[in-house]
Amino acid sequence: MSLIPDVPRQPANRADPAPAYPWPDGHRCAVFTGFDVDAESAWIAQDPTHYDRLVSMSFGGYEARVGVPKLLEYLRSIGLRSTFFIPGWVVEAHTRMCEAIVKDGHEVAHHGYLHKRPDPTTWAHDVEEFDRALDVLKRVLGVTPVGYRAPSGDNYDALLKHMRDRGILYSSSFRDDIRPYRHRLRDGGAGPIELPVNMSFDDWLYGMSNRLSPRPMFGKSHVLEIWNGEFDQTREWGGLVTMVLHPQVTGRPMRIGIFRDFVARCRSFGDCWLPTGEEIARHYMKCEQQAGRAKG
Ligand SMILES: [Zn+2]
Repeated sequence: MSLIPDVPRQPANRADPAPAYPWPDGHRCAVFTGFDVDAESAWIAQDPTHYDRLVSMSFGGYEARVGVPKLLEYLRSIGLRSTFFIPGWVVEAHTRMCEAIVKDGHEVAHHGYLHKRPDPTTWAHDVEEFDRALDVLKRVLGVTPVGYRAPSGDNYDALLKHMRDRGILYSSSFRDDIRPYRHRLRDGGAGPIELPVNMSFDDWLYGMSNRLSPRPMFGKSHVLEIWNGEFDQTREWGGLVTMVLHPQVTGRPMRIGIFRDFVARCRSFGDCWLPTGEEIARHYMKCEQQAGRAKG
């Protein structure tokens, strides 16, 4: 009897390679500005008793007070529509903040209910999280989301299938490509489209620290060196840059300037598309249909 665990001898992700669909209107590359509006839920998810630890909560509370209003003001000033992944609990706890996001015409997408990280061992809990968040987005904001980003970034086959069956067109969590592709479920069926994330664009890694788990913070020149370098090569390759930005990080005074300078530089090339997640997914489906027609 072997001591080595019996793991399927196949790639964990069975999706086909990403197709080389062109970007619309002659664009050479795309930058997807996605915000994860976690607020306090990022700090409650591991331990609900944190809710009464008010200074811990205040990291997340910054989003409604300052981070989101400042980001909305900036996005309005440059006429950029973004995608905001919002947990259901955040919609209930910070309704006015979320209504302001909708009012400005941004896309609102699914980000769990209480920011629980999906895990194949907690299927029943994950389905309840997923469906409760759908209900809250609809009831409170009138939104039926078509995009999903996994809280704390994990996902699995049964949940991908559930998402698809609930009308989710795209996921934006996986780290394995620089172009969108369509998931293939383990039963062979088609899953949602993936808008893969480049982890270099997760602002939490550079700008979040606290006393109990202190981490180095990185300034503007350091972050821009990474972001601009990743963007330049992705643009050469005709790919997609997907950002994972948190208003409790990028909504901080200096850090909003990092985002501002990055977006201004991307736009300066004149060939970079800055769409919402839904716009990318619908473009992908259009290309997919055309390719299908060409094949048939
Ligand atoms: Zn999150």
